[in-house]
Amino acid sequence: MNVLVINCGSSSLKFQLINSESEDVLAKGLCERIGIEGSQLVYQPAGGEKEITKADMPTHTQAIQMVLDALINEKTGVIQKLDEIGAVGHRLVHGGEKFACSTVINDEVLAAVESCNDLAPLHNPANLIGVRACQELMPNVPMVGVFDTAFHQTMPEKAYLYGLPYEYYEKYKVRRYGFHGTSHSYVSKRAAELEGKPYEEVKTIVCHLGNGASVCAVKNGKSVDTSMGLTPLEGLLMGTRSGDIDPGAMEFIAKKEDKDIYQIMEILNKKSGVFGVSGISSDFRDLEQACKENNPAGPRAMDAFNYRVAKYIGAYTAAMNGVDVICFTAGVGENDPDNRKAICEYLGFLGVEIDDAANKVRGKEQLISTASSKVKVYCLPTNEELAIARETVALVR
Ligand code: ADP
Repeated sequence: MNVLVINCGSSSLKFQLINSESEDVLAKGLCERIGIEGSQLVYQPAGGEKEITKADMPTHTQAIQMVLDALINEKTGVIQKLDEIGAVGHRLVHGGEKFACSTVINDEVLAAVESCNDLAPLHNPANLIGVRACQELMPNVPMVGVFDTAFHQTMPEKAYLYGLPYEYYEKYKVRRYGFHGTSHSYVSKRAAELEGKPYEEVKTIVCHLGNGASVCAVKNGKSVDTSMGLTPLEGLLMGTRSGDIDPGAMEFIAKKEDKDIYQIMEILNKKSGVFGVSGISSDFRDLEQACKENNPAGPRAMDAFNYRVAKYIGAYTAAMNGVDVICFTAGVGENDPDNRKAICEYLGFLGVEIDDAANKVRGKEQLISTASSKVKVYCLPTNEELAIARETVALVR
């Protein structure tokens, strides 16, 4: 079956068409600046050149129509007719406590997702626009929603409750939800496969280190703790997000700089993280360059980032009473040997030893620990689209 995987944001839409039997990507691309002047479709068939088409896309429905037209285009298309798309898998960000697994989308599900909108006001409404646009254009094709939060619904109460008045949990469901669940699930499963061990018998810590970053403790196939919270702002230092911080510091800055809560949130989300600490960039490649040029802002941000990741690994080792496998994934985790090495240097007390030659790898599955290391460490590229396609097929069948 061919599965169209859709990741819809407020003004952009990423897609992949995946053959579920071979798990090959037939075509992929993205629509940018939907509803804004200068919109364009970037389309790439497997083995072919990237093609950029500039065209007005006032709505998401028009954007998806362009994607479908490209997929069946005589010259660069990869299917002949739209009925060769057997199902659509949608990435949905927040399923609250309502969704502990992926689900076939119907009106009831859409209403339930909509009721989670205030938990993810930037993401969920945009995701739903994508679902509705696909339903309009492909009314007879089954659709599946795969939630970023679902994998973490197995966390115990002690891990998801905040130290707040309990009534805020009861009234508003204020608690830790966690994100990147599709990635943490995919990577931890793959690590168990590579280890040749049953998923239900391995303690894994997955470090998803991209622009957004989170760590997850996966004990015997279940997420038992993760660093992101009610929103994706908590936890690690990220590209531009602060991660953990004393809430008291916010009041202090607000008073000093005469800012309201919304301005403070903007600073925490957009101007903090390694971007804020370095004052240079949110991109680790730029920070590496700064390190090479002996600019102290580079190591200042990198060290703070790596230290925080290592602290979470230590905490999650305690949460699981041990760890068998540590995985590094996403943009930084897959591509930055220096960061992996620097993080693992904090973990000597666990018996972690990195093989420098093996660690030179970028973007490839690779065991990077030595034969004598007490914990296995992997560079393990994530593949959220493939995970969504697999879930979609499993539910549709
Ligand atoms: P997201 O999906 O959260 O936007 P990604 O997982 O795509 O993020 O990661 C993007 C980040 O990965 C970039 O900001 C950059 O810092 C980092 N990155 C990508 N390639 C490299 C590389 N070769 N070396 C170091 N960092 C890299």
